[in-house]
Amino acid sequence: MSDCVFCKIVAGEIPSKLVAESEHAIAFNDIKPAQPIHVLIVPKKHFNDVADLAARDEVVLLDVMRLGTQVAEDLSIGSFRFQFNTGEEAGQTVFHAHGHITSKTPRA
Ligand code: AMP
Ligand code: ZN
Repeated sequence: MSDCVFCKIVAGEIPSKLVAESEHAIAFNDIKPAQPIHVLIVPKKHFNDVADLAARDEVVLLDVMRLGTQVAEDLSIGSFRFQFNTGEEAGQTVFHAHGHITSKTPRA
């Protein structure tokens, strides 16, 4: 996906603040944080959205879910959201599957 911003971040062609990485996914800070903790969980391979990911690759789906919950538990006090905006009407603006980890209170 040559014009996909998250494919470019995965390839290192666009910089990002990497938070964590797993075999199939990366976690980096959202450029426009909506909460004190706002990390995006992104599969390294391109899927259009989480429905596409769930339908096509259960290994990558599990890896994304595990990386997201691990990052959330590491950074927050255990209270967080893990949200996948899916489709334009739901607010999806980047059409490469990603989950948002958001939380109000960073772990001390
Ligand atoms: P969504 O609206 O669910 O598609 O989420 C896309 C998210 O990607 C938004 O919260 C943007 O702030 C974020 N975003 C877009 N471009 C970048 C980038 N280059 N680095 C980090 N986050 C980005
Ligand atoms: Zn992509």
